[in-house]
Amino acid sequence: MLPDRRLLLVHAHPDDESSQSAATMARYLAEGAQVTLVTCTLGELGQILVPEWQHFTPQELGAHRQQEIAEAMEIIGVTDHVFLGGPGRYHDSGMVDTDLGKAGIPDEMPDNAFWLSDLLEAADYLVEIIRSRKPQVAVTYDPHGNYGHPDHIKAHRTLMYAVQLAATPSHRPDLGAPWQVQRILWNTHNTSRWAEAYAIARERGLKLWGEGDHDHADEDMTQRFGPDPEQIVAVVELQPYLDICRRALLTHRSQVKGDDPFWQFFSIMQELPGSGEAYLLGAGTPFPQGDGPASDLFEGLDVADA
Ligand SMILES: [Zn+2]
Repeated sequence: MLPDRRLLLVHAHPDDESSQSAATMARYLAEGAQVTLVTCTLGELGQILVPEWQHFTPQELGAHRQQEIAEAMEIIGVTDHVFLGGPGRYHDSGMVDTDLGKAGIPDEMPDNAFWLSDLLEAADYLVEIIRSRKPQVAVTYDPHGNYGHPDHIKAHRTLMYAVQLAATPSHRPDLGAPWQVQRILWNTHNTSRWAEAYAIARERGLKLWGEGDHDHADEDMTQRFGPDPEQIVAVVELQPYLDICRRALLTHRSQVKGDDPFWQFFSIMQELPGSGEAYLLGAGTPFPQGDGPASDLFEGLDVADA
């Protein structure tokens, strides 16, 4: 028997789950829900923040990051973690920095880069996972991959397509009985909290997003952080899981350094009262009308159907 409530999360690289979904995963596990995390690549092209590891080849970094995420899974309590198509099936596509913390698509990437992969093939790996885990709620990035990383955009496309295919009886019956995900949520920046944290970080003199080259007004920066706060349909509160979130994030030692200005900013943001992991409605059943964002991703869904 599967638990009543089942959640699937699709992330592009090891560390994305800890920076964006750790509180969500910890909370639903604590409440007895089934939580499945799919990671699409090993993050072989992540920037290495630790000087001693600068010599790592992409393969070595990928192997190292598998260990990092395994530790994060232990801290959060996730036992159902899958690499899409198996570890190393899809290679990190890399990214180029563009304006103010946004990412762009590099001119060259490895042959098996996730960005270059066949969408149907990638989606079919997920179809099998969706049909066996039967999630009512699935989570991934928005269509722009939140900040433009090609692997985040591809993760979005793969999940959106897989949800359609998984529910289609004529599609690959060998991958399991059809299953309809009821709600797709796109994780997003909690815009107003990011703006508050940005103001505090500036006051403390932290250097963020190439300031100095740009002279943007604070309101302009606020708009760059994320969607109109009115569009945020759900927020999973961070506060009860702050310690788990922090420890999970710090397992990603190659990518996360506590004294880096961005991660200092991130920590300020996490500590703000009312901070939480924010979601947009991507598809499926809307949340019941309420005062502001819902606090439960399953609110209003029929979960007694498996
Ligand atoms: Zn990522």
